[in-house]
Amino acid sequence: MGTYTIGERVHRLPRIAQCRVCRSHLRAQVEAGLVDGVSYRAIVDGLPDGTLSARNVGEHFKRGHLPVEDEVHSRLRKDRSRQAGQLIQRGVERKIDELSLAHAVVERAADRLASGELEPTMREAIAAARLLERYDRVRSERDDLRRGRDDAQRALSGILSLAKPLMAVESWSRLGRQVEEDAVLRAFWPSPT
Ligand SMILES: [Zn+2]
Repeated sequence: MGTYTIGERVHRLPRIAQCRVCRSHLRAQVEAGLVDGVSYRAIVDGLPDGTLSARNVGEHFKRGHLPVEDEVHSRLRKDRSRQAGQLIQRGVERKIDELSLAHAVVERAADRLASGELEPTMREAIAAARLLERYDRVRSERDDLRRGRDDAQRALSGILSLAKPLMAVESWSRLGRQVEEDAVLRAFWPSPT
């Protein structure tokens, strides 16, 4: 059985028993014509003997006996799986970017909370906490993200505990009511001492 080489791969020539072109000693010449886009009729007219018809050549081509098709399909498959891989990779990176941003917001919120800018800070912290909750699954698969989030939660709880004695009672109560309405935020609220 014959072989052909594309790049570094050696392929076996498909040889289909019923196909006259596959069995013909003129196969290489026929295939050279097909690859060049010569018509079936013109290929047959250019052959030294009358053993093949234009119909034989057409069937050889249409049934995919041309060895190049294997290579074309295999390259297309590789391209598609590479593209799918890049797409997944981009999606994962975007999610991780969002999470990093959420962590940064929670941390910045804690800083600003400490410096007395209480209300705008809480709004950002709420949004960040919600985002972190939404990515529960991603976090559980990545230890570094889970640790970062736990640290941020601990920091925020700690800061709130420190802030409480510094805040006016009315402000603290208002904050408490807002937090009470949100299941996620309740986790941040320092337990009564
Ligand atoms: Zn064939």
